[in-house]
Amino acid sequence: VPSPILTEDKVLVSVEVCLKPSSTARVDDVRFAVERMLETRSLSYIDGPVPVPLDDPFLLENVERIRICDTGEWVENHDILLFWQAKPVVHVFQLSEEGPCEELSGEGGLSSFNEWILPAKEFDGMWESLIYESGLKQRLLRYAATALLFTDKGVDPFLVSWNRIILLHGPPGTGKTSLCKALAQKLSIRFSSRYPQCQLVEVNAHSLFSKWFSESGKLVAKLFQKIQEMVEEENNLVFVLIDEVESLAAARKAALSGSEPSDSIRVVNALLTQMDKLKSSPNVIILTTSNITAAIDIAFVDRADIKAYVGPPTLEARYEILRSCLQELIRTGIISNSQDCDRLILPNYVSLKEKLNMPEIQHAESPVHLCKQLLEAAEACEGLSGRSLRKLPFLAHSGLANPYCCNPSNFLCTMVDTAKRERAEL
Ligand code: ADP
Repeated sequence: VPSPILTEDKVLVSVEVCLKPSSTARVDDVRFAVERMLETRSLSYIDGPVPVPLDDPFLLENVERIRICDTGEWVENHDILLFWQAKPVVHVFQLSEEGPCEELSGEGGLSSFNEWILPAKEFDGMWESLIYESGLKQRLLRYAATALLFTDKGVDPFLVSWNRIILLHGPPGTGKTSLCKALAQKLSIRFSSRYPQCQLVEVNAHSLFSKWFSESGKLVAKLFQKIQEMVEEENNLVFVLIDEVESLAAARKAALSGSEPSDSIRVVNALLTQMDKLKSSPNVIILTTSNITAAIDIAFVDRADIKAYVGPPTLEARYEILRSCLQELIRTGIISNSQDCDRLILPNYVSLKEKLNMPEIQHAESPVHLCKQLLEAAEACEGLSGRSLRKLPFLAHSGLANPYCCNPSNFLCTMVDTAKRERAEL
């Protein structure tokens, strides 16, 4: 039956399907089965998991989980997207369990490079765990998607210019490195039909300037030779992550002023030249991070198309980070009380704000009451980085008088105290 609504009127919604490690099913078969399942169920689209239907033996055998993503872009105020308003785009993937491979290490066992096959098990869930305001994650995803599309369609770079370099800068601990890895993982899933193979190579710029300078030059040459080989295979999508790029500029400056061996300038130049060469390959995305928030004056950074500032988390982001921590401690039973705490769902920031406007009497263990305490903790954490926030529940727990009997309300009180102490130590 032809649909009365044209595809153009529909919103494209990504549905990610993770295969079981044991599955040997064909990706197309699974995609087809999931599409059919979504169609027959007439689900509404909300971000989050979709249960694998118990009456579907094929999906049950092969699929680990199904997840709807990014509907937040299309609906405001946590509204839902009805099934006829959306067209699902199903991405089927299997996680690589190989782990990082550190082939190229310098003398003394110092490893300067890491390589992963994507999507990798280590990065599973990372994208969802990173919380930012103002659509930063979506912006990065769309940017990279456009860059890959332009390349794939053969848009002439002399007529329309763009590049595939992204720079994330901001204070330490704000999740820049994690965001780069998570973005690479996301793109490897979203573009798997165009690029069936995908790798991430991580270079720590700082480690290149260790005491093994003479080795560094060779390492850079070897690394880029390897990357070049990966890139030559046109079905390969390669991400090169260069962390702490500010150390390149610093090393160059120091070499010029004579305070560092001139070897270092050769390493920097080698790296920049190699990167320039790589830029012309269509299937490479270069991701860079810097902890310096002021202007960064190195040549290639000027050419980055997207320079995004990643700052310390706002109140809403702090609340959401702490909420996800608490929810995890509830899931694992570390925090519990006499009631059926394991099914306790803490409201998110937006719905908490709504609930706070409706004054009802709340008992001390009600989710709303708990979330008021959580909000208090989030307020107490102003100025803390995302990294410190994710450690806070651990510190709070280790400070408890009785760690084996930990009810949510007491735990939150301790967390507020811990947050205040952490801030005082900044
Ligand atoms: P950076 O590269 O900016 O120094 P990292 O990527 O090393 O930061 O971040 C360290 C950890 O801090 C991350 O793995 C993550 O657990 C946590 N983190 C930082 N910022 C956030 C955030 N905005 N939302 C959630 N977690 C965050």
